[in-house]
Amino acid sequence: MTALAKIVHTTPEIEAEPDLTDGFHLVIDALKLNGIETIYGVPGIPITDLGRMAQAEGMRVISFRHEQHAGNAAAIAGFLTQKPGICLTVSAPGFLNGLTALANATTNCFPMILISGSSEREIVDLQQGDYEEMDQLAIAKPLCKAAFRVLHAADIGIGVARAIRAACSGRPGGVYLDLPAKLFSQVMDAEAGQKSLVKVIDPAPAQLPAPEAIARALDVLKSAKRPLIVLGKGAAYAQADDAIRALVETSGIPYVPMSMAKGLLPDTHPLSAGAARSTALKDSDVVLLIGARLNWLLSHGKGKSWGEPGSTKFIQIDIEPREMDSNVEIVAPVVGDIASCVQALLDGMGKGWQQPPSDWIETLKSKREANIAKMAPKLMSNAAPMNFHAALGALRTIVKERPDAILVNEGANTLDLARGIIDMYQPRKRLDVGTWGIMGIGMGFAVAAAVETGKPVLCVEGDSAFGFSGMEVETICRYGLPICIVVFNNNGIYRGTDTDPTGRDPATTVFVPDSRYDRMMEAFGGVGYHVTTPDELTRAVNEAMNSGRPALVNAVIDPAAGSESGNIGSLNPQSGIKKKK
Ligand code: ADP
Ligand code: MG
Repeated sequence: MTALAKIVHTTPEIEAEPDLTDGFHLVIDALKLNGIETIYGVPGIPITDLGRMAQAEGMRVISFRHEQHAGNAAAIAGFLTQKPGICLTVSAPGFLNGLTALANATTNCFPMILISGSSEREIVDLQQGDYEEMDQLAIAKPLCKAAFRVLHAADIGIGVARAIRAACSGRPGGVYLDLPAKLFSQVMDAEAGQKSLVKVIDPAPAQLPAPEAIARALDVLKSAKRPLIVLGKGAAYAQADDAIRALVETSGIPYVPMSMAKGLLPDTHPLSAGAARSTALKDSDVVLLIGARLNWLLSHGKGKSWGEPGSTKFIQIDIEPREMDSNVEIVAPVVGDIASCVQALLDGMGKGWQQPPSDWIETLKSKREANIAKMAPKLMSNAAPMNFHAALGALRTIVKERPDAILVNEGANTLDLARGIIDMYQPRKRLDVGTWGIMGIGMGFAVAAAVETGKPVLCVEGDSAFGFSGMEVETICRYGLPICIVVFNNNGIYRGTDTDPTGRDPATTVFVPDSRYDRMMEAFGGVGYHVTTPDELTRAVNEAMNSGRPALVNAVIDPAAGSESGNIGSLNPQSGIKKKK
């Protein structure tokens, strides 16, 4: 079906006009032509009819309560599918709300396109005070990979094509597409309109690594006594799962997954050094980074986490040449797409490949086993109120039994501990706060995960983290999505025990004690559970996930259990002034 707007006179004495189309229909046709089936957004001026018409034309249009969550949904849809996720917003304030998600997508290398309606160019540019006046294109530019504006209906096809290519090719990222209100009602000949559309051929072309780069990388790898592979979310995004698994298993090199690369190989794989991460980073002599940046999450490749200065040589596979040497010297840069680079390394290893020294493998294995054994009793505690470990021990078993469910995770302690405790078994099943470590991605990610994959979603949220997108439980109920949210309710941020020293107000980090988040879900027709023990938690989550209906489990956690800033307390500045005793 095409989206031609038939504007035809019915009076017989006047000759019928040719078929016409307009901006609205051309945007929809351009997206559909490129295989984009879903729009995440919030309706309003001037894009209300665009959403309506897109739905009428068979696209899935998921309306949110706030643009940031629609934007986060689009971004994670991009990560999961390699097609740019679309977020549609109104002008100025709606656009600004979507911008946080656009910037976050760009930072995380997720392909997305933020499409915002905008006001009259003539009035905006003369700053004459239009409705929602704002120079959106200029504001978006520094926060995304590329930004375009379309002024003529005949250019919509090219505008959408450029946006798709910019989002997906090379290092993926966020793109802004500015569509002024007037564009939507511009009319043109339907046939010329169809001809103006572009189906993007090969939006993310393979980028083959240079043979010298592969040879250099293999030489460095061969020289290693204690080699390590670090898998990042770029490796998860690349969908080169079989090749990556073959590289790990053929080379016999242990690997550490970054948070969203967990499950690329199961966390229980014999070569996983995830549970011996500190030792693996500190003692390795050669590290092969695959789609992982040496940013703060890897201590910039230097310092105590990496052992003696200069003791680690880095090989890096990345599609972005400028990523090389960003923090420390990369002795063997391998620039290209991950699938091609990994395959080339595998081919180069050939039959005579020497496995790494067994003492290194043994060291990591025993460290890993010791850490797992140390953790085990904490995960089985049945103490009430629950602490984080006990609650996560229950969820760990549930994820093991439901490996195809998608886990969305945010919070401070809830995030840091869940990342370590909950094993993942399949690729792209763990979606979390990413490169910025931001809160607020929860419900947006959960909605898109359910919509894009049709799989059940388990959303493990700190009570603070949940608050940023909590209103979207209405969206979840409206679309009847199979999402089970577990709120780890410890009455506050980090902990629920702080007080205002003056005694006047609640402390800055606490919430209404003993809140019943489960009732928010009930307000919109979903199922709420209130649980205080790991057994109750297990029963509630299993029941919810079996039903496939929206559910929220309010899991009461000991208000004293959390630590300040979770695992990243060291980033939290403390006053330099010592209090007098
Ligand atoms: P993590 O936080 O998991 O370590 P990062 O987001 O830091 O992961 O790193 C992801 C890296 O993967 C980015 O540098 C990005 O350029 C790269 N990347 C993304 N997709 C591909 C791909 N298809 N091929 C090669 N590199 C990719
Ligand atoms: Mg809390």
